[in-house]
Amino acid sequence: MSTAPLLRFGTYPTPVERLDALSKPGATLWVKRDDRSSPIYGGNKVRKLDHVLADARARGATRLVTIGAAGSHHVLATTIFGKRAGLEVDAILVPQPRNERAVRTLRASLAQGAHAWPAESWSMVPWLVLRRRLAGAYYIPIGGSSVAGSMAYVDAARELAAQVRAREMPEPDAIVVAVGSGGTAAGLAAGLEVAGMKTRVVGVVIATPMGFVRWSTRRMARVCLRRAGGEGAHAAMRARLELDSRWCGEGYGLPTPEGARALDAAASAGLALDATYTSKAFAAALDLIAKGRHANILFWNTLSSAPMSALVEAAPAEDALDPRVRRLLR
Ligand SMILES: *Cc1c(COP(=O)(O)O)cnc(C)c1O
Repeated sequence: MSTAPLLRFGTYPTPVERLDALSKPGATLWVKRDDRSSPIYGGNKVRKLDHVLADARARGATRLVTIGAAGSHHVLATTIFGKRAGLEVDAILVPQPRNERAVRTLRASLAQGAHAWPAESWSMVPWLVLRRRLAGAYYIPIGGSSVAGSMAYVDAARELAAQVRAREMPEPDAIVVAVGSGGTAAGLAAGLEVAGMKTRVVGVVIATPMGFVRWSTRRMARVCLRRAGGEGAHAAMRARLELDSRWCGEGYGLPTPEGARALDAAASAGLALDATYTSKAFAAALDLIAKGRHANILFWNTLSSAPMSALVEAAPAEDALDPRVRRLLR
């Protein structure tokens, strides 16, 4: 990996805040505001891209190729910040359940200049990726969870450790975070280990196949730990990283009743969440608060809270999309 200076698209540290309205006596809920990682478009992909785009530029790339669901936050973030780094973005898009957020995110990605390559099914993806790579594009895996991208969350764990030292919050017993491609949870687990924190990571798996997601998340956590110089702490890290598959429901992007209730509870406390990722993770966080066995739970908010209006200003209407792209939202 390169030692190129990072591109700093994000603004750090992101704040930590108490959610008094949803806390209980003896069990306080906190939130890490990675939703505010950038005023242009926030969420967890910004930290990853700081690292990934620096690597791409250091390798002389002029184009990127990445993969995502049609309404992928990762594709939108890669397009926005990739363009700002002077790179063209090829996005291989796969089908996903249609909802308003997915429609808006897809329209924004296209308006921001993503070149969309619709894949009717997952089986077409390797071929499409290969073609773009042969054309010289730098490859960013799904969710931005390359080693470089995941290492961003080792830094994020160090950032939290500094906030705890500065008494912005007590050392949390657990961080609760959504797990899609797994780089966020993996980097956090490795980073907490090398930062000497006691905090556990509860990764809430929201993508399928869940066995594969759990396996690849653990594998990436080991790679990050080695990179971060934490050799020898594998067993401790394994014990600290819990991957909870109980909140996914029928699959990626499909709402659950628990998620819907958590979304409403969060909204009542002023926190806007989504159906695919954060509401399912938040349901798990509320469950830990209800059980009351932990004094401090930190919900890691991975969803952008930046207004989308500017990003969709020049966007095509859904009806005006290339039919092959529009049909990806089912
Ligand atoms: C991408 C994403 C995640 C999942 O992060 P991974 O590092 O892929 O596990 C969680 N929440 C939101 C809102 C996301 O966009």
